[in-house]
Amino acid sequence: MKIAICPGSFDPVTLGHLDIIERATELFDKVIVLVMSNSAKHSAFTVEERMELLKKCTDHTKVEIDTYNGLLVNYAKNKGAVAIVKGLRAVSDFDYEFQQALINKSLYPRIETVFLTAKGENMFLSSSMVKEVCRLDGDISPFVPAEIVNDINLRCKGDK
Ligand code: ADP
Repeated sequence: MKIAICPGSFDPVTLGHLDIIERATELFDKVIVLVMSNSAKHSAFTVEERMELLKKCTDHTKVEIDTYNGLLVNYAKNKGAVAIVKGLRAVSDFDYEFQQALINKSLYPRIETVFLTAKGENMFLSSSMVKEVCRLDGDISPFVPAEIVNDINLRCKGDK
C-alpha cells in the first residue's frame, strides 16, 4: 500500500488544501493529512480544533487526519510512507519547499517529495488570507469548505 503524507498547519483548512488532498488520493492508496504545530506562526485554532475542521470536510475512506510535533521524516518512516505531498502556489513557495525536500531526502533517502501545482483559482489562497478577510468582515465562503464557514466566522470575525 502506497501511503502519502500531506503536512501543514491547516489553520484553518482552505479549498486550496482540499484540492491538493483530493488529488493526492488519486495518486496514493492512503493519504495522511498531518497537522503540525508551527511555533513560528501564531495560530487561530488549536491543533485539535484544526483536526476537527479537517474531519468535517474530508469524508474520504482514503484520508486519515493525524498530528505530530516531531521530525516529519521520523513520522513518515514509522508509517511506512513513500511520499510527502505539497502544494505549490507560486515561485514564492518554491525556495522554501525545495530546501525542505532536500533536507528530508538527506535525512530519509527513501522518501520522495511530490509537488502538485495549485489550481489557478487557488494561487493566492492561504489560511492567513482567509483569517484576514474574515477579521475584516469579508465573506470567506468562496475560499473554504461550506461545512466550516461558521466555525471560522465565530473564531475570527471582528478579531482585532
Ligand atoms: P499556509 O501556507 O496557507 O499556511 P499550510 O502550511 O497549512 O498552509 O500548507 C500546507 C500545504 O498546503 C503546503 O504544501 C502548501 O503549499 C499547501 N497549500 C496551501 N495553500 C494552498 C493553495 N491555495 N493551493 C495549493 N496548495 C496550498
